[in-house]
Amino acid sequence: MLPRSWPMQNAKKVVDRNSNDIILKTGYGPSGLPHLGTIAEIIRTRMIQKSLEFQGKEAKIIVFVDNMDGFRKVPLNLPKQDYLSQFLGLPLFKVPDVFGCCENFADHNINELNKLIAQFDLTNHVEVIKSSDMYLSGKFNNALLNVLRNHEKILKIMLPTLGEERQKTYSPFLPISEKSGKVLEVKIEEYKVDEGKITFYDEGELVEAEVINGKCKLQWKVDWGMQWHALGVDYEMYGKDLIDSFSVSKPICKTLGSKAPVNMVYELFLDGDNKKISKSKGNGVSLDDWMNFTPIASMKHFLFLHPERAKKLDIRDLHRYVDAYLKDLQRYHNQIKENDETRYENPIFYTHENDLPPPTELSYAILLNLQKGLRSPNYETFRNFIIKQHGELNSTEEKLVECIYKFAEHHKTESHPAPSWMIKYLQKFIDNMDGFSTGLEMQTNLYALGNEAVENKDIIDLKSWFQTIYLVLFGEETGPRLGPFFELYGKEESMKLISAKIK
Ligand SMILES: [Zn+2]
Repeated sequence: MLPRSWPMQNAKKVVDRNSNDIILKTGYGPSGLPHLGTIAEIIRTRMIQKSLEFQGKEAKIIVFVDNMDGFRKVPLNLPKQDYLSQFLGLPLFKVPDVFGCCENFADHNINELNKLIAQFDLTNHVEVIKSSDMYLSGKFNNALLNVLRNHEKILKIMLPTLGEERQKTYSPFLPISEKSGKVLEVKIEEYKVDEGKITFYDEGELVEAEVINGKCKLQWKVDWGMQWHALGVDYEMYGKDLIDSFSVSKPICKTLGSKAPVNMVYELFLDGDNKKISKSKGNGVSLDDWMNFTPIASMKHFLFLHPERAKKLDIRDLHRYVDAYLKDLQRYHNQIKENDETRYENPIFYTHENDLPPPTELSYAILLNLQKGLRSPNYETFRNFIIKQHGELNSTEEKLVECIYKFAEHHKTESHPAPSWMIKYLQKFIDNMDGFSTGLEMQTNLYALGNEAVENKDIIDLKSWFQTIYLVLFGEETGPRLGPFFELYGKEESMKLISAKIK
């Protein structure tokens, strides 16, 4: 039976539609640097491709880059804002690269995308195609003439979705001006279907242009439908924000003579305050955060889980995402050993290529708090401490320790002195320390002391009791189970850590 995971089920729909020369597509608008959403879509599409391979089918992933899109605004994070503003309106591939390293602005961003693709080990699985190459080489010509022949039907689909003002001037074709080089959003005076041309006013003069050979590009929704038709796309997933676009592009694709691809809608990421992540900074997790502070496969793992749910992505939860990944990694190794078929349901099957790292029992959450407690002055000290407690590190663990040290350095928290009522309880805990032989016993004792504090009305409940301990030890309201933490930290170190807070 086919595994029930969403990539497998999506792959099955694709095979049911077409089983030869399968094309999966994703998109990227190079008006800015690629971000989490850009690479997320490619990573998830690779999961479908992998599921197709599992079902014995080859498929190609096209990353389609719309570098013909007009340069609408100068991104605020770029230097030379004034200089760049003179190129507004030009197709993105005609805007210069202010960093001087690439042929143009779009190529600079595409280069960054290619680097990301390589970092996620996807170079051999995808093909990046630029819109300008397709338009200018004439590869889209047949499809463009098809749009011209069907322009009335396409207008009938498009116009009801537009406001009254926009309806008056809307056209599926955006001519590229011979005068200014800009992408023109103008009223088309005449569609000359037999000649493959259109006429329109450019700087007050009525002019004529071919719709082919890169002299025109298509409006976004028409372009999307045309791409599916011209490239023979069988599958494309898209974010919830494009639902309306899809519902229009689909009949346009049909008008051109092709069936719209199998699709899946995924939800967008939200930050800790439930705002769309690209729109805010705050507590969200950026692509750089994933790259710097986690074994990067944990991001793929996160992306595998429930793409249909709006997911909160909060930097304060980063340790949870990594630990969930590590748990599944451990489980996957066991499933391989037992030749357990359910491993194809395990996210790890979809998150690794040929680089399955060894499993570990270490936890990001515990090690992170360890470092917050230790405040090791440098990476070597921290690493040596863990080796002393845990033994030699395998490659997964080396990476983990390195990421955790970096994370702790970048997110230093201020611990607090213990409130006066708490001192006697923590002192009791230290006094009991000699008698404990396991972390579990320490945990039990902390519960007992907490209950005592609640009974004495020193604190309102057990939850607040533990919150206060976390604040005192780590400067945060949450943390790992304390018993196992103290066990790993070592009795002597733990006593020193607590004593320092109750002096
Ligand atoms: Zn560059």
